Amino acid sequence: MTAVLEATGISKSFRGLQALRGVDISVEEGQILGIIGANGAGKTTLFNCITGNFPPTSGTVRLDGADVTGQPAHRLAHRGMVRTFQLMRPFHTMTVLENVEIAAMSRGARGGTARREAGETVERTGLGEWADQLSGSLPAAMQKRLELARALAMRPRVLLLDEVLAGLVPAERAPVLDLLENLRDTEGMTMVFIEHIMAAVRRLSDHVVMMDSGAVLATGSADEVLTDPQVVEAYLGKE
Ligand code: ATP
Repeated sequence: MTAVLEATGISKSFRGLQALRGVDISVEEGQILGIIGANGAGKTTLFNCITGNFPPTSGTVRLDGADVTGQPAHRLAHRGMVRTFQLMRPFHTMTVLENVEIAAMSRGARGGTARREAGETVERTGLGEWADQLSGSLPAAMQKRLELARALAMRPRVLLLDEVLAGLVPAERAPVLDLLENLRDTEGMTMVFIEHIMAAVRRLSDHVVMMDSGAVLATGSADEVLTDPQVVEAYLGKE
């Protein structure tokens, strides 16, 4: 089975600091890969290299088997690689619906189609009652959902999520987790997510990669990785 997304030997140096050292990850269709690791382990840098925010110093990124290494983020988004950011970037002077509509248009939907799809996505992400509010006026938890809605409106082939639960209280996390699980189970969506909340990692991940100091320290099922003595020592013991 071909991986939807496969990154091999990814290294990245920033002026002498080696942030990534030969990282391999791969995710198959309809699966969810969780990436864990302490602050500074290189998780976001890995996303940045994969999604074209900057090129890796070395290594290869394949999307559906095609080499897309170093392609710019907008081109990769067109090819179906869509990500959310740790810090959100919606247009605050537009409404929720308009923000999602723009995302739908950016992948080619036009006019009524874009608006209809945006409406469906807004409902699906639980933002229905906020649709006509300016996005800048949304509470933080709803801003997170808007970020997700914008990503989904781009109809991703693979969705990369950078700490979508950060800053949410447990009651706010549950609907987001339900949505992500539902996307995989009903649409077979392929996802890679960076997360510090272990309950979410256990619940969602088909596979887990644990990073430490720019390298992969452990990989396997959530149960295997989260009980690995090296992982407990390097990461969980410090939580
Ligand atoms: P967190 O959980 O805090 O988000 P992380 O695992 O995502 O951490 P990264 O943000 O990828 O870690 O950082 C990895 C290392 O690379 C850190 O030492 C960081 O300071 C460094 N780094 C990341 N981006 C840059 C950059 N643009 N320029 C210089 N150094 C960077």
